[in-house]
Amino acid sequence: MALGTASTRTDRARTVRDLLASGKRSYSFEFAAPKTEKGERTLWNAIRRIEAVAPTFVSVTYGAGGTSRDGTVRATERIATDTTLTPVAHLTAVNHSTAELRNIIGQYADAGIRNMLALRGDPPGDPMGEWVKHPEGIGYAADLVRLIKESGDFCVGVAAFPEMHPRSTDWDADIRHFVDKCRAGADFAITQMFFYPEDYFRLRDRVRAAGCSTPIIPEIMPVTNVRQIERFAQLSNAAFPPELAERILAVKDNPAAVRSIGIEYATDLCARLMAEDVPGLHFITLNHSTATLEIYENLGLHQRP
Ligand code: FAD
Repeated sequence: MALGTASTRTDRARTVRDLLASGKRSYSFEFAAPKTEKGERTLWNAIRRIEAVAPTFVSVTYGAGGTSRDGTVRATERIATDTTLTPVAHLTAVNHSTAELRNIIGQYADAGIRNMLALRGDPPGDPMGEWVKHPEGIGYAADLVRLIKESGDFCVGVAAFPEMHPRSTDWDADIRHFVDKCRAGADFAITQMFFYPEDYFRLRDRVRAAGCSTPIIPEIMPVTNVRQIERFAQLSNAAFPPELAERILAVKDNPAAVRSIGIEYATDLCARLMAEDVPGLHFITLNHSTATLEIYENLGLHQRP
């Protein structure tokens, strides 16, 4: 696959499906909706810096268990109207009836948003707890894919889990449910973050062996401080690489050195994935642009703005 770099202004209203089909590798960035005015300024500072490198698309997460949901809709709408970026709006089924989900999908459509990431979401309060669907809502992400597809001409992405979804009991069922989401109409997938490229390749090969060719974009999140060692393992349900933890802890009193190791590790992970022809890379920014842009530059994709 050609090493694509910048998308152009004309890409803005296009779908992720078309952008992936163009044969260029996709480079994308994920933001979270802000909860405060200060957070809003930080987010927009990051968005403007990312806009300067003309990524393929950017996505905005949907607040877990009811938090920052209006903020997600507002931020995604503003990206669609005030920037040259192609936005992907995350949407979860948590605490929503089907009627409410239809209403949010309609708001996105009115704002000109054509791409959505359809997620079941986690049980509010305890992400590892038992999932109980809203009495008038939907049970699994595959149902949300169908609902969005029925609602209009949308391009829909879904989540994939290189180390299996934490609540899945076996790989066969996990892959079967992933393939169900694709057969329900998903156009692309983005993975949970992971630390070893082999985990991504194993997932991709299992999905291909099940007869499904939906593009699966790996998600990358660099470690930039010591506190993230524990946080990342919780978020991804993955064992943090002990060799990386050891290197970071050896310089724990030197924040610049910690950050530099995290960026070097993530750059190497990206390079190993790119060598195997992945369809794209999706960077979690935590609403700060500098670490991910440094990786972008290390990979020779763009000069930092
Ligand atoms: P599903 O695909 O519905 O799967 C959930 C579990 O149910 C899996 O174990 C699956 O195997 C099983 N399953 C699926 N179908 C069936 C069936 N028919 N019968 C029995 N079992 C079944 N969360 C947020 O709150 N907001 C976000 O913005 C957000 N963004 C994310 C972005 C990415 C890239 C990823 C990877 C995750 C994101 N999440 C987000 C987290 C996500 O909501 C959780 O990981 C959630 O637990 C799973 O969502 P899913 O869409 O994969 O669910």
